Amino acid sequence: MSSVWAIITDEMSAAAVAGVALRSGTPTKALVFGSSGLAGRVAGFGVESVTWYDADKTLPEAMAGTIAKRAEQEKPVAIVASDSATSRALLGPVAVVLGAAVTGKVIAVKVDGDAATVERLVADSEAVDVLAAPGSVVCTIADGVDEAEASEPVVVSEGAFDEDARMKVLSTNAEGEGGAGLQQAERVVGVGLGIGAKENLALIDELAGIMGAEVACTLPLCDNYHWFEHNRVVGTSTQKISPRLYLSFGSSGAPQHMTGVRASKVIAAVNNDPEASIFRECTYGIVGDVQKILPAFIQALK
Ligand SMILES: Cc1cc2nc3c(=O)[nH]c(=O)nc-3n(C[C@H](O)[C@H](O)[C@H](O)COP(=O)(O)OP(=O)(O)OC[C@H]3O[C@@H](n4cnc5c(N)ncnc54)[C@H](O)[C@@H]3O)c2cc1C
Repeated sequence: MSSVWAIITDEMSAAAVAGVALRSGTPTKALVFGSSGLAGRVAGFGVESVTWYDADKTLPEAMAGTIAKRAEQEKPVAIVASDSATSRALLGPVAVVLGAAVTGKVIAVKVDGDAATVERLVADSEAVDVLAAPGSVVCTIADGVDEAEASEPVVVSEGAFDEDARMKVLSTNAEGEGGAGLQQAERVVGVGLGIGAKENLALIDELAGIMGAEVACTLPLCDNYHWFEHNRVVGTSTQKISPRLYLSFGSSGAPQHMTGVRASKVIAAVNNDPEASIFRECTYGIVGDVQKILPAFIQALK
């Protein structure tokens, strides 16, 4: 029987990716690369199954071989993902083993037997192409698609993977591309996808202004959402910083990010998931909603 995969790599796009996959009308298996908290949330989206791959254990590139082998066995007719760095590391090998067509800015997927039809935005999102694939299709979603609705949760199983040597970190450029004053900053306010919406960045800016801090971000806020320039991203891909205080809001603490902030003297983190891995690395942690804690911080400092 045909199946569709939803590859989920971050909080903010999780419900949208699941929504597109589920509306295909085909049983959807979710493969979650992130925290156990994220996998638990996805379990309540109405998917048939959730496999959680612990993103803290290795690079996504090192899991790609295992995921490609699974794709070869299960032959999903459509694979839906967000356009994140983690998705991109996984989708290439999967598309190759399936001989799948690859496309982006997708708003809908329909499945008929072993073939898929996708609708994708074109012409500055003014028009929609309907594309037919003779076999499997691998697609990344457009912004603003409808999200999955809450449903009875399914059990999450942890996925095993054989770490392959497809990609290893040989060295990390400590200089990075610098810029944005982050290298010299004594205090840095870090922001991750848990900030929820672009308008909430005004609170981050206000807090940073009061503290005399620079603002840094996780990669998806630059790469996927384009809310920040690349020189604000901290981690493996860009730069390492070592402020006296790194105050993080809504970041899961992925190893690729933590590599860039671990040299901070004090790390304080706010995250609403008590299992978030950033709590294993921070000096002070607050389990709570950034949208409540941020205004309270600002008020207290004022
Ligand atoms: C090759 C490669 C290189 C990479 N390089 C980098 C890099 O240099 N830097 C980098 O940052 N990333 C990098 N990444 C991406 C990295 O793996 C993670 O995907 C990314 O850091 C996660 O960003 P995040 O913590 O903002 O998002 P998520 O992992 O989605 O975490 C969001 C967090 O917000 C929390 N949250 C949600 N809502 C709220 C709320 N209302 N209140 C409080 N908390 C909330 C959630 O519990 C979750 O823990 C790289 C990935 C790859 C594959």
